[in-house]
Amino acid sequence: MIRNRQNCLKALVFSSITMLFVTNTWALDLIRKKKSTERKLYITVTKKDRCPVCGMFVHPYHKWITQIQFKDGSHHSFDGIKCMCRLYFNPEKFDPAKKKKDIKRVLVRDYYTLKFIRHDTAFYVVGSDVFGPMGHELIPFDSEKNAGVFLTDHNGLKILRFNQIKPELLDKLDKSKKTVNLE
Ligand SMILES: [Zn+2]
Repeated sequence: MIRNRQNCLKALVFSSITMLFVTNTWALDLIRKKKSTERKLYITVTKKDRCPVCGMFVHPYHKWITQIQFKDGSHHSFDGIKCMCRLYFNPEKFDPAKKKKDIKRVLVRDYYTLKFIRHDTAFYVVGSDVFGPMGHELIPFDSEKNAGVFLTDHNGLKILRFNQIKPELLDKLDKSKKTVNLE
């Protein structure tokens, strides 16, 4: 009887461990699949691609590249988050053929890993001492933890989600001189 119970317990422990392993492997596979798909989603820029907002070539600033892709298969690439947001908020101003509802996907680049991630999953550090090609920038990270590390290391002021970024904030970043003033 006791031996039976022991065997039963062993079987239970073994099956739990197997289940845990299978679930973990499955979850890891899912994460890997998601990451590799998003890398593939990025459309490589050419040396001729210019930012539709400021007119600069985007190729030299590959670390800062962000991209808006449209439902018709076209896309715009930008030399930073600020420029991307300007078009995102008001597409017609920079490309009369496009409307906000035409946007299919927005990709930003994690500052540490340079992986492309969806704009609404990123954490943005504002007010740091790291400048982008167009001055003060919003710096994207794929986790709140990494955004926090960067904020501490580079005297950042705040961590924002995409829906907290407003045109007025972009104006404040553009107007700020050496340090960012959010007042
Ligand atoms: Zn630009």
